[in-house]
Amino acid sequence: MQRTVETAHQAPQRPKPDLGRVPKRVTVLGATGSIGASTLDMVARNGGTIEVVAVTAHTNVKSLADCARQCRADRAVIGDPELYGQLKDALSGSEVEPAAGVDALIEAAQMPVDCTIAAIVGAAGLKPTIAAVRGGGRLALANKECLVSAGDVFMQEVARAGCELVPVDSEHSAAFQILQEADAESIEKITLTASGGPFREWSLERIQNATREQALNHPNWSMGAKITVDSATMMNKGLELIEALHLFSVETDKLGMLVHPQSIVHCLVSFVDGTVLAQLAEPDMRTPIAVALSWPRRMAAPTKKLDLAEVSQLTFEAADEVRFPAIRVAREAMERGGTAPAVLNAANEIAVAAFLAGRIKVPDIAALVGETLNRSEGRGLVTEASCIDSVLDCDANARLIAQELLTDGDIVA
Ligand code: NDP
Repeated sequence: MQRTVETAHQAPQRPKPDLGRVPKRVTVLGATGSIGASTLDMVARNGGTIEVVAVTAHTNVKSLADCARQCRADRAVIGDPELYGQLKDALSGSEVEPAAGVDALIEAAQMPVDCTIAAIVGAAGLKPTIAAVRGGGRLALANKECLVSAGDVFMQEVARAGCELVPVDSEHSAAFQILQEADAESIEKITLTASGGPFREWSLERIQNATREQALNHPNWSMGAKITVDSATMMNKGLELIEALHLFSVETDKLGMLVHPQSIVHCLVSFVDGTVLAQLAEPDMRTPIAVALSWPRRMAAPTKKLDLAEVSQLTFEAADEVRFPAIRVAREAMERGGTAPAVLNAANEIAVAAFLAGRIKVPDIAALVGETLNRSEGRGLVTEASCIDSVLDCDANARLIAQELLTDGDIVA
């Protein structure tokens, strides 16, 4: 049988990826944070082709004013209304319009853009992010707590608005890229990888006495304080399972995790025919940010290029739920469904803040979250989530219960 060989000369001309097609107008919610800074770095490297409409922060006036001036944003919004005067002074002489307060955050999130990068930390990001969903344009979602707290209700808003949602979390960005055009029945398992954090090899006794500095010393990623502590307790992976559940609409038993200390493989998807597809990249959030900005095209990112010979070893191990009980607590909340994940998230935010303030130890975090879930269930707080306001009510009540437990010293790790 004759075979035709395609030579370079005869090969059909394939279109080159259009590296220049990135959004023209973006808003960055949480611009002063780690994801915000990485996003603005990508914007700056695009030689003025991306216009920044609005940048926001919570209390960090100086950093907000600096970044707003640098990226020549139209508007800078500080969440704390008391700080309006300081922001106005810090922006004087520039063309950036200052604004303050939660309503101003929501208004800024609704300004028409091609893409909003949702990078506020915590459930505080829920209202502005929903406003961005309703405002139109693509949503590049980093704020996983939105999906954990409001899951179904959030995704209904996304569907109603016809919003194009692209995940920024590296594991979900990986799954998003792998799953393009995969039909649901062909997926056997989505496995998110976890670095294992700073305590991966620590004994339970050693974790018991870990300090704030040790928890904040992540081996692979440079991130904000809250997610870094979540990585140390591995609550982060639990939150990410819930995030994946909503993003990819799979059954809970099709979601898994594997500890992979090198953080090179971000997600593996196993298909029914035995194929496993993985996405690999150096651990640098500018890669998933680039994906979220330019998908389905590819824009250049200034990240270290992956050299597998240099990495040499990719290792995987099962996650240990005895030393990292937050994984089990999160999985149980995911399986319970309804507002249980909103309670989980609220209690975790209180617990992480208490840990960072030196009030509790690492193992107390999962214990506080677990007990808040028990008490919330007992008080009838865990119900179906009907709308954003009901999620926010549940979030507020769960915070009160967690605070109560903290004040009473009722946590047994
Ligand atoms: P940071 O703590 O570094 O930044 C948080 C940002 O949110 C800051 O701009 C902060 O403003 C703002 N903010 C905090 N509280 C409020 C509030 N109440 N109202 C309005 N704005 C607020 O967080 P990260 O950048 O690390 O993370 C952001 C989100 O992205 C989180 O949901 C995280 O889980 C997710 N993510 C982060 C990754 C990372 O590599 N960092 C990786 C994957 C996901 P101010 O500076 O004034 O406090």
